[in-house]
Amino acid sequence: MRVSVFGATGSIGESTFDLLARRDDIETVALTGGRNVERLAAQARTLRAQIVVTAHDACYAALKDALAGSGIEVAAGTQALIDAAERRADWVMSAIVGAAGLAPGFRALAQGATLALANKESLVTAGPLLMREAARHGARILPVDSEHSAVFQALVGEDAAAVERVIITASGGPFRDWTLAQLARATLAQAQTHPNWAMGQRITIDSATLFNKALEVIETREYFGFEPAQIEVVVHPQSIIHALVGFRDGALMAHLGPPDMRHAIGYALNWPDRADLPVARLDLAQLAELTFEAPDPVRFPALRLAREVMEMRGHAGAAFNAAKEVALDEFIAGRLRFLDMAQLVERTIDQLSTDSCLTDPVEALETVEAMDQMARECARAIASRVA
Ligand code: NAD
Ligand code: MG
Repeated sequence: MRVSVFGATGSIGESTFDLLARRDDIETVALTGGRNVERLAAQARTLRAQIVVTAHDACYAALKDALAGSGIEVAAGTQALIDAAERRADWVMSAIVGAAGLAPGFRALAQGATLALANKESLVTAGPLLMREAARHGARILPVDSEHSAVFQALVGEDAAAVERVIITASGGPFRDWTLAQLARATLAQAQTHPNWAMGQRITIDSATLFNKALEVIETREYFGFEPAQIEVVVHPQSIIHALVGFRDGALMAHLGPPDMRHAIGYALNWPDRADLPVARLDLAQLAELTFEAPDPVRFPALRLAREVMEMRGHAGAAFNAAKEVALDEFIAGRLRFLDMAQLVERTIDQLSTDSCLTDPVEALETVEAMDQMARECARAIASRVA
């Protein structure tokens, strides 16, 4: 099987690498990363990739040096990422973080590849476009988010029309039981420490604000086509049940597993088969207790914002995601406080909603990218007034 991994040096990328390195039937086409060229080069040598791409032109020389004598092609920059996505592959992992992951995944669909989609931003910003592109080229998108992989697995052999509701779980993040006063003072160090999952910095902070869950509610809607009212979120601090699907007869099918993304990645890699995976097996007696609580909309407004965005449809998802990415940049840079992130996103959407193109249907990558840019500029302008 020919595989490519976009975002190979990240958290999902490393877990994917771990699974690929265990197999002997893999032909690696492209691996991409950012500034971590040493690691990218080491992965490329192990998997004997055809081509490696760093997203940054400035890292080209270092990557070239690191691969000297290997015979592996080296390239750099945004266009090189897209070109790499156009190389024929059977299975493509989309694990770049943020809206930057959209274009390479989109291109991979156009050549009919199976897209293992960890980059949830692709569905949030351009869901209808991505699903149409997959259908047009006979390509398949397989979800690589623990909740969505769980829903996907719970639906195997079921009639989608018999689904009443879907429940995705949220750990609640590090601030689950913090008061508003405490949240107002939450630091970057505290926000980037997740109680259960080891993930990249950005998604970890998004888990603390519940923006990650907000993106995932939209992702559920776009991927599976459920109505917003059918999609529920429950806080489950142990992160053992990833999602549940409720059927019209009242049955709830739950998917359980340890918090290890190699399950969802491996499921997408082996689909439609199941194969041995190096994930821990659950000891339920030792876990003893699984608990649940309703998310608090006052301390964590992100879920309410996601509902509003789903009502608006069109390019609202792209604006929401872009504003959230700016808010995150500002928080990481120390220019915004924790609670200001949701406020910045809300104010950006409010401001853009006076402009009709926010709700225009998503028909082309270009309009999504234009809305992304417009929302970033709008959010930065608001942020500079707040700071
Ligand atoms: P990460 O920050 O650990 O890794 C991101 C990867 O993308 C790195 O290889 C980095 O070099 C590359 N990258 C970053 N910015 C880029 C840009 N502008 N252009 C090109 N490449 C760029 O992120 P992660 O935690 O692995 O998450 C990746 C994606 O998977 C995200 O969309 C995230 O929401 C999703 N996801 C992650 C997890 C998880 O457990 N980490 C779970 C579910 C979904
Ligand atoms: Mg998830």
